Amino acid sequence: MIQIQPELKRIEELRQLLQQASYAYYVLDAPIMEDAVYDQLYRELQQLETQYPELVTPDSPTQRVGERPATHFTSVRHNIPLYSLENAFNIDELQAWDQRWRRQLPTTDGVKYVSELKIDGSALALTYQDGVLVRGATRGDGVTGEEITQNVRTIRSIPLRLNFDGIEPIERIEVRGEAFLPLEVFKQINEERQKAGEQLFANPRNAAAGTLRQLDSRIVARRRLDFFAYTLHIPGMDDASIANTQWEALELLQKMGFRVNPNHQLCESLAEVAEYYKYWDTERLNLPYMTDGVVVKLNAFKLQEQLGFTQKFPRWAVALKYPAEEAPTRVENIAVNVGRTGALTPLAEMRPVQLAGTTVSRATLHNSDRIAQLDIRIGDTVIVRKAGEIIPEVVRVIKELRPADTVPFVMPSHCPVCGQPVVRESGEAVTRCVNASCAAILKGSIEHWVSRDALDIKGVGEKLVHQLVDKGLVHSVADLYDLTEAQLCSLERMGEKSAQKLVDAIAQSKNQPWHRVLYGLGIRHVGSVNAQLITEKYPTVEKLETAKQSDIAGIYGIGAEIAQSVYQWFHIDANQALIARLGNTGLQLAAEETATMGESNQKFAGKTFVVTGTLPTLKRDEAKALIQKAGGKVTDSVSKKTDYLVVGEDAGSKLAKAQSLGITQLTEAQLLQMLTDE
Ligand SMILES: [Zn+2]
Repeated sequence: MIQIQPELKRIEELRQLLQQASYAYYVLDAPIMEDAVYDQLYRELQQLETQYPELVTPDSPTQRVGERPATHFTSVRHNIPLYSLENAFNIDELQAWDQRWRRQLPTTDGVKYVSELKIDGSALALTYQDGVLVRGATRGDGVTGEEITQNVRTIRSIPLRLNFDGIEPIERIEVRGEAFLPLEVFKQINEERQKAGEQLFANPRNAAAGTLRQLDSRIVARRRLDFFAYTLHIPGMDDASIANTQWEALELLQKMGFRVNPNHQLCESLAEVAEYYKYWDTERLNLPYMTDGVVVKLNAFKLQEQLGFTQKFPRWAVALKYPAEEAPTRVENIAVNVGRTGALTPLAEMRPVQLAGTTVSRATLHNSDRIAQLDIRIGDTVIVRKAGEIIPEVVRVIKELRPADTVPFVMPSHCPVCGQPVVRESGEAVTRCVNASCAAILKGSIEHWVSRDALDIKGVGEKLVHQLVDKGLVHSVADLYDLTEAQLCSLERMGEKSAQKLVDAIAQSKNQPWHRVLYGLGIRHVGSVNAQLITEKYPTVEKLETAKQSDIAGIYGIGAEIAQSVYQWFHIDANQALIARLGNTGLQLAAEETATMGESNQKFAGKTFVVTGTLPTLKRDEAKALIQKAGGKVTDSVSKKTDYLVVGEDAGSKLAKAQSLGITQLTEAQLLQMLTDE
């Protein structure tokens, strides 16, 4: 049997994916993946084909000049082709582009660039005869587009007649630009479609493209498309010297009555271009429309002419894109991890993919409910997302691309670590191993005990914990305190010095305060903040052990679920025994009231906080309670009097306002750090 190269297999797979996606997009008008996702798959195929040119076939999507326009509009040939731009995805690739064009020219002194935001919409080609709009067409494949003049006429920011005041009238003008839907309008349209039971648009770009190709112009008019012009072609313009540069062309477009995106910038160096790119990476999120990158052009038309075009792209321009936070990849396996609470967590193991600047190969699938909801299977092509510091997760499965032989994933009926049957309580999403002596649970609970927010024992990492448990040296966290140097020295790669250090570090942890011990116990739902709230009400373990469940639930910020979990934990004999042993060992099971109370009361005195967005672990009320406990004031709106803005996911206008006022921003982690700093 001939062995198929994995690259060949991947190439074939990519071609199939891209063809299916094109068909869905152009023929069915029902996209199955985001444009950015398509771009990435396309690029992966291009790279593989560059690496293995012998594998390029004429029917590969990369060999197609462009996509064929759909049939219900008249096809028109563009007077001047609309080229697509070469893509760059980082500053290195921008520099490579820069070096490429520079090599083509004898001298490159004093070259300037124009940087413009790349609006995520749909390109239009407009033709004006004697100042009057006579034709509007979609980009199509760049050579042939669809004639949609009636629809273009409904866009208010496209002039039907040009303003030639102070300009010599020009017989024929070609203008290119981007038709787009403002985010607010996009949201409205999807809300209306949802009410009407219609399929939602995947993104503003699809919505704009779909709107432009509506057969009924009245619908187009209602949708309030907008337009930014960015290219001006005047036949014979080089002689006319009406505009000699892209910068002048943009000015001229504005004079003639077009909207030009105000955020363009003339850059004297590539470093300035890079700065512009970095600035807009975050700033673009405050714009009322979508952008996906920056278009960089050489300013002088003379240079553009000299450089000309490759088969596909102009040499004098590049689209510098922002890294995607979502990307497609394939699920190679679904593994099941057992955590310290015994919870079985399914993990998707995937082909490594670049995401928000890091390589991602695993994503959490949370639990069996989530798996059922996604209907994810081994072999599926999925969209993974990684935003900020959030753990990568699978957003959805592209079911259209599912191989024929897949089977639904079923959670194991037995713990993959100890082999005991697992349990899923009714009403719970989580499947658990309930074997108290399961090695996975023990290892997890020790790792939690030594972690930074708990007892913070430095030098005890995952590997050491595994060795300690596997060798039978440790059966509970209390056993850590009985470890001797001699026992530690018997472990692999453990010298006398480090063994001694470890014993010291473990002994040191006996000084950690009561709330850290409580957190370290790993009681379900008791995070490090909850532990602090509980120990403030119950400064000794005796008080907590004898507390009524309803009293625990009465603590501000502690709900019934947490209270039940705490109450139950302290009423299990084995746990009582553990507490007794930890007490005898010398761990802090009571707070040093006088010192901590006074200090924490004053920490935020006189400071005003605003909390916005979704915080990673705290509810907003909990965060407020903590700030207020430390003497801080929490208000709802940002003003000059605000000292700190605590920012979570999906922060909106408050963040923008705080930025404009220069107010210090805090993440949840930073806030908690400030609270615990001594
Ligand atoms: Zn187990």
